[in-house]
Amino acid sequence: MKKGLVLALLFALLGITAQPAMAVSVAQAAPPASQPQDPGRTQQFIQLASGWTQAGSAGGEAQLTGEPNPDLVVYLTFDDGPDPKWTPQVLALLEQYHARATFFEIGYNVKKYPDITLQVAQAGHTFGIHGFNHLDSTKLEYEVFYSEIVDNYSIIADVFSIDSSLINSLTPCFRPPYRAIDKTVINWVEGIGYELSLWDIDTEDWNNKTPEEIFSTVIIAIQPYSVILMHDGGGDRSNTLLGLALVLHELTLRGYTFGQYCTAYGQAYTP
Ligand SMILES: [Zn+2]
Repeated sequence: MKKGLVLALLFALLGITAQPAMAVSVAQAAPPASQPQDPGRTQQFIQLASGWTQAGSAGGEAQLTGEPNPDLVVYLTFDDGPDPKWTPQVLALLEQYHARATFFEIGYNVKKYPDITLQVAQAGHTFGIHGFNHLDSTKLEYEVFYSEIVDNYSIIADVFSIDSSLINSLTPCFRPPYRAIDKTVINWVEGIGYELSLWDIDTEDWNNKTPEEIFSTVIIAIQPYSVILMHDGGGDRSNTLLGLALVLHELTLRGYTFGQYCTAYGQAYTP
């Protein structure tokens, strides 16, 4: 990777902060039409990214050719969507890097924004269940827990009724809201034939982390088959977008590809 190209890409990525609605077109253009507004912040990004690039991968051997390595698969996952503002921007970034992901959408958001759910499916991504109302499963009676799953499944399946082939993207994976699980919940999940879909790397993008923090959290911990947790809904996701852009860029340079954590046959990998 040439340093000039790294700089051009980072400048392009920084454009996302200034103009969220133009994230895709800005990122695709090199160099960008406008310079970042904060030179100090820009310098920070450049130093951070070049430092990681020189340090090589977590496994020790740097893969900086950008050639995909079949042994270097990681799994991006996005919770709490769909969101009409943020989800399409996440989709655009994923498309740029030929990345596939799994989305754990909340039922009541699907009800509000079915077109966005359809966009996610048509882009080739898969879906897990995250509950219709995003409730703490450990505080529920079984009947309510069961309804949370079935209602979440049904609302997504309804969206896919216009194209029956999309139903295969709806997978038997359950991600518990708030990571709230206990022995009872685990038994319930197994009892209905679902897999409990957790993660290896929590970017904490839900916790007001900066793009730099999101990026470094992933890069420090990354290894083949890591499952990465991010969010495309539930608040302002502009830092998630910028952090995601950096992660996609850096991991692609290292030869990583981005697979689907959940498939119609269940989880590709169990953390
Ligand atoms: Zn959630």
